[in-house]
Amino acid sequence: MNSENRLILMISSPYGARYYNVNLIFKHIIIYFFTFIGSIVFFILIALHTLASEINNIENKYKYIEDSYQTLLDKNLSLLGQISAKKEEFLLIADKIEDLEGIIGVVNDNPNYGLQNRVEAASITGLQKIFIMKFVPNGLPLDSYKRISSGYGYRIHPLNGSREFHAGIDFSSNLDTPVYATADGVVDFAKDGWNGGYGTLVKIDHSFGFKTYYAHLHSFAVKRGQFVKKGQLIAYVGNTGVSTGAHLHYEVRFLGSHINPKHFTEWDMSNFDKIFNKEKNVAWQSLLMTINNLMLQIPTEQRLSQQKQNLKES
Ligand SMILES: [Zn+2]
Repeated sequence: MNSENRLILMISSPYGARYYNVNLIFKHIIIYFFTFIGSIVFFILIALHTLASEINNIENKYKYIEDSYQTLLDKNLSLLGQISAKKEEFLLIADKIEDLEGIIGVVNDNPNYGLQNRVEAASITGLQKIFIMKFVPNGLPLDSYKRISSGYGYRIHPLNGSREFHAGIDFSSNLDTPVYATADGVVDFAKDGWNGGYGTLVKIDHSFGFKTYYAHLHSFAVKRGQFVKKGQLIAYVGNTGVSTGAHLHYEVRFLGSHINPKHFTEWDMSNFDKIFNKEKNVAWQSLLMTINNLMLQIPTEQRLSQQKQNLKES
């Protein structure tokens, strides 16, 4: 049957006749056609796949860029915050300098006067500091102590158990530990006895309204009316008066009123400005201004030689 349906194509030429089986040709054409279509579909699939992965890639890149942008945005925000904090800090410093200028009486009319120059002008000179640290009580009245057995303020009394005001700081220490004056001054009181519970007591009058008390002493090395220097030996620790063990009761008074000696015992050259904020009972501004005026009255040459002298002494 098959062979009957076969279409044979004969092409004759001068060299002879050629036969072509049309069915076979048709079959080949169909095979080629489907192979071609198949290839195209295959390539399209590959192309689609590549495209999809490319899109995925781009999406990832986009996400990364978006993240980077967000990070930069956050960084920018935090930097802006820091800038505004620095601005505030700067304004605060400028304010502080203005305060200091007020304290020491520096007049600053020039708006172009730089911050650096203003800092230098406002800083209290070394000589002024030396002056203040000589005449206003500062530092500890003894070289060493065991512990602070009682601070300044209200407490339960160790002997009678009642709540009462403790007007000084108690330095628990060994018997006969040397006690030193905390500033230049004149001895106002130096006596044995009960002395209202203070026991053996030394009082020193200092400049500018300050007074210091050294109580419960074993003995003293100065007498009333004697001028003393800062750091001079004045007495020895004892257990006299209302006392439960060898200790020094140290008081600082200003214009007759008790003030917390803590800020004064912690005060030295390195933290010179700290006490101005801590101790509000003293009008430091006018005290510093007074000292500043005193300094200005000393001629420059004399000040220089004084400074040299101070360097030699220290
Ligand atoms: Zn005490």
